[in-house]
Amino acid sequence: MNIILLGPPGAGKGTQARFLVEERGMVQLSTGDMLRAAKSSGSEMGRIVADVMDRGGLVTDEIVIGLIREQLETVKANGFIFDGFPRTLAQADALGDLLAEKGESLDAVIELEVNDEVLVERIVGRAAEAAAAGQPVRADDNAESMKVRLMEYYKKTSPLIGYYYAKGQLTKVDGLGEIADVKAAIAAKLG
Ligand code: AMP
Repeated sequence: MNIILLGPPGAGKGTQARFLVEERGMVQLSTGDMLRAAKSSGSEMGRIVADVMDRGGLVTDEIVIGLIREQLETVKANGFIFDGFPRTLAQADALGDLLAEKGESLDAVIELEVNDEVLVERIVGRAAEAAAAGQPVRADDNAESMKVRLMEYYKKTSPLIGYYYAKGQLTKVDGLGEIADVKAAIAAKLG
């Protein structure tokens, strides 16, 4: 089974993806994690994407599609969770093509529905918690980048909700509840 977790920054995609990895043995493909790894390794790609990521903008379709293509070509899994990808219609089309080339399909797109004020609180709270625990704080977890990330989401990513609805693949889950409730709701939808 291959699924997409869709939702704005702070909706809980990463948290829920980790549960699916633990419980179903699926493989999480997070373009955000891949890009952060490139950034901290100091690779050429990392240097190219660092600025735009820190400001909260989207990196180019070419780069993220390349990352996903590479993973799909090399990683064997009995199910992928796409977390933070696709974020544009071009990425969504590319993912459809890449899966079709592998003879695979997309089984569900789970949209985590949340409210914007909660998102901003969660993101700023996530940064404060990490700082208090002496953990690294994401460079883009601040109120300024958050505004840009939300705007990018509404301008470029939210059209994917209609796109996948029209394809009959969209499933909405309330992302505002307790983490365990969201987890149970996703499990119920996936069967
Ligand atoms: P995330 O961890 O998913 O919140 O991603 C962190 C940042 O990485 C985003 O704000 C973007 O700058 C970049 N990024 C991650 N995934 C994508 C994507 N699919 N398309 C474009 N930029 C991305």
